[in-house]
Amino acid sequence: MAGRCLIAFLIMASCLSVFVSVSVSGQLPGDLFALGVASRLRVDGNWTARASSDFGRIVTAAPEAVLHPATPADIAELVRFSASSPSPFPVAPRGQGHSVRGQSLAPGGVVVDMRALAAAAAPRRVNVSAGGAAPYVDAGGEQLWADVLRATLEHGLAPRVWTDYLRITVAGTLSNAGIGGQAFRHGPQIANVLELDVITGRGDMVTCSRDKDPDLFFAALGGLGQFGIITRARIGLEPAPRRVRWARLVYSDVVTFTRDQELLISKQDGEASFDYVEGQVQLNRTLTDGPKSTPFFSDADITRLAGLASESTSGVIYFIEVAIYYNESTITSVDQKLEAILEQLSFEKGFVFTKDVSYVQFLDRVREEERALRSIGMWEVPHPWLNFFVPRSRILDFDAGVLKGVFAGANPVGVILMYPMNKHTWDDRMTAVTSDDDVFYAVGLLRSAVAAGDVVRLEKENEAVLAFCNNEGFGCKQYLPHYTSQDGWQRHFGAKWNKVVELKAKYDPHGILSPGQKIFSPMKTII
Ligand code: FAD
Repeated sequence: MAGRCLIAFLIMASCLSVFVSVSVSGQLPGDLFALGVASRLRVDGNWTARASSDFGRIVTAAPEAVLHPATPADIAELVRFSASSPSPFPVAPRGQGHSVRGQSLAPGGVVVDMRALAAAAAPRRVNVSAGGAAPYVDAGGEQLWADVLRATLEHGLAPRVWTDYLRITVAGTLSNAGIGGQAFRHGPQIANVLELDVITGRGDMVTCSRDKDPDLFFAALGGLGQFGIITRARIGLEPAPRRVRWARLVYSDVVTFTRDQELLISKQDGEASFDYVEGQVQLNRTLTDGPKSTPFFSDADITRLAGLASESTSGVIYFIEVAIYYNESTITSVDQKLEAILEQLSFEKGFVFTKDVSYVQFLDRVREEERALRSIGMWEVPHPWLNFFVPRSRILDFDAGVLKGVFAGANPVGVILMYPMNKHTWDDRMTAVTSDDDVFYAVGLLRSAVAAGDVVRLEKENEAVLAFCNNEGFGCKQYLPHYTSQDGWQRHFGAKWNKVVELKAKYDPHGILSPGQKIFSPMKTII
């Protein structure tokens, strides 16, 4: 039924583009004109094919149409039409489509290409409020973080927390959490949001915050697109530094690596501390540097690192990656500060590597890697990525069981991230879930499938990792989660599950929004 209704709707919509030119003469039926948004729907194969897959390149599913909204009201009209239809159809907002498991797809429904809002907008949809004690930016949900950075830097300001990659949308990351090396201090990006504009699954346009419609505000943050479509986020800002001292410290032993990371994220305001703390695991076989234009390691360094790895029984070494922000006037004190912090750490003697870059170069560092990978055809390959939050109390077991167990002998292409965050910086009223300990690790198994058979092999390894974590009862939570059964989702949300169901019934009672997450049965009325 849903399909038939949608098809009828789309036939009307596609007819409209033919009839628009004659509409002035009033030859079209009135109810078609009532649906003003129809002229913004694209139904031809070129458009639907583009919205049928994502960065993961593992899942494909075609929508019936793609909406190119000019304003948030266009989106609201579409959602209202679906919600009030006897057979509602799915609607999925799509940012950059950089999910990896089909989360932004809308099989048989309509994908809303959020980036069209940025293209259509005049004036621009990033507005900085720089005056006052608490500056902020109002950014359209469709905006890329790279563009938010550019706009805020014009005022000498910037958001506090960044993802590693900036060519993803504000709402795409706020629907998950948005984590990076600043999160240990400021929490995830969702913890730095002051206000949202949201279009609910009923088609209502609501402005919400901690004080106004807080249910919707907290639901939408980390809400995996289930409760509403975010069209604007107000995000707190801080003065932006101009320079960054960026360092990698090398460890051959996981106990010292994690102990030092936890020391670094425990520093209180006023203590000498880093502004950014992340970490990477290098299986010997994957020893890589970053972009060749700004290398961390010389060829001689790589040889020394490989030597260190071969001396360790597992062949695994670890980098803590840190950064201190500064301005030119504080260059002497940055040297002293770095020295003072390094003295407290136990990395391998002689294995500290530093470089000095602009703030933008630092934040936009993955762009360089993207360019390099694109140039050799390695960006647009399948990405069977798996991300976890692992409680501090089980991180050594995870290291032993997964990195030195399941992955022993594996030869992955990609990056493995491992860095801790403080749970107290997260707001548990938000939909996003973390693991239970006060400190937990973000672990990203970001591996690419570059050769025939890689997808199948990597997926098998992923299954083994998931089974290992479940069987051992680690209390891991997936970040950017993906489950194929409602049982899986129920376990994922744990104590939050009943609230999630209640909020879904309240804000998206027909189960229209973001069906690609596969949390609720499609088109089933929840109430
Ligand atoms: P999409 O993939 O388009 O959408 C994601 C989900 O959000 C979908 O369910 C979609 O329906 C929903 N959605 C999209 N727009 C809206 C909206 N306006 N309102 C409500 N729901 C919406 N994440 C981190 O936290 N930290 C990192 O450091 C990090 N690094 C990354 C590096 C790379 C190279 C890549 C590819 C991803 C990285 N990610 C990271 C993951 C990234 O944050 C998520 O995949 C994010 O969803 C991508 O944003 P997007 O705009 O592509 O969203």
